[in-house]
Amino acid sequence: MKVGYVALVGRPNVGKSTLLNEILGQKVAIVSSKPQTTRISILGIKTTAKGQIIFVDNPGIHRPLHKLNKRMMNFVYSSLETSDLICLLIDATQKFGHGDEFVIETLKKVKIPIFLLINKVDIVKKEKILLLIDKYKDLLDFKEIIPISALKGTNVDVLEDEIYKYLPEAEKIFSEDEVSDQSERFLLSEIIREKVLEHVEQELPFVTAVYIEKIERRTKSSDSQTPLTYIQAKIFVEEDSHRKIVIGRQGQLIKTIGTEARRELEEILESKVFLDLQVKVKEKWRDSEDVLNLIEGQK
Ligand code: GDP
Ligand code: MG
Repeated sequence: MKVGYVALVGRPNVGKSTLLNEILGQKVAIVSSKPQTTRISILGIKTTAKGQIIFVDNPGIHRPLHKLNKRMMNFVYSSLETSDLICLLIDATQKFGHGDEFVIETLKKVKIPIFLLINKVDIVKKEKILLLIDKYKDLLDFKEIIPISALKGTNVDVLEDEIYKYLPEAEKIFSEDEVSDQSERFLLSEIIREKVLEHVEQELPFVTAVYIEKIERRTKSSDSQTPLTYIQAKIFVEEDSHRKIVIGRQGQLIKTIGTEARRELEEILESKVFLDLQVKVKEKWRDSEDVLNLIEGQK
C-alpha cells in the first residue's frame, strides 16, 4: 500500500478545490468519524487498490495582510511541512506575476518533492502551455510537470499515477468510506459562502464569513415522513455597504442566495431545509479573534 499526504497549493482561483472534487468524484461531503482538529485546510481522501492519497486542499497562497490571512497562511505553511508531496497548481490563462513569485519563494524553503500542475488547459492554446513550462522549469526543481484540466478531468488519472510513485509504503490512515475530515457544519457554511461569492463582486470574497448558528432536525407534524432541517446562519461582512450588496435591491439577492444554497443543502442533507440567513456587519472581523475562533470552531 502506498499512503501519504499531498498538499494542493497555489494562488487563489487556480482550481485547487475543483481538482479535489474532481478526484474524489463528489463535492467533499461526508462527515468523518475522526476527532476534529481546528484547521481550515480540508482533507480529501482517495482510497484505491493501490493505496490512499490524502489531499490537503489549502487556502490560496498570498501575502498575508490581516490576521485572517495570516492564519490561513499558517495552515498552508504547516501543510507544506507535513506533506509527502506538494502539487503546485497554476492557472494557464494567467501571466506570471508578483503573486507567482511569492508562491515560488515560499516553496523554495521546503524540501519535499513538488509537482507543477498547469491547470485550465481546456481553455488555452498549446503554445501558452509550452511557454509556461519553459518559464517554470528553472524556477524550482519540479519532479513532474503535468498539464491538466481539473474541470474536464483531463490528465487527472495520469496525475494520480504519478502521485503514487512519490508516496511511502504505509498502512491506510483512514477507512475506505471516509472521504473528508470536515464537519457537516463546516461544509454547510462553505456552501452558503460559495453562493454568496457567486453573486457578489470580486472584492467581497475575503470579507465574507459564514457561521452556522443552529442546525435543528425536525419532522413536519402534518407529514412525519418528511425530514425537515432548520438552519440558521450568519453572513458576516465588514461594512454596511457590503451588507447592502449582499442583501440586494428589495432583498432580491439574499433571496436568490438563500434559494440556491437551500437547494444544495437539501441534496446533501437529504431533507427539506428551512434556511434562515442573516447578514451582519462586524467591522474588521478579519482582525477579530472572536469571529475567527467562531468560524474555525465549525470545522
Ligand atoms: P481555488 O481557489 O484554487 O480552489 O480555485 P477553484 O477550484 O475555486 O476554481 C476557481 C475557478 O476556476 C472556478 O470558477 C472554476 O470553475 C475554475 N476552474 C477550475 N479548474 C478549471 C479548469 O480546469 N478549466 C477551466 N476552464 N476552469 C477551471
Ligand atoms: Mg479553493
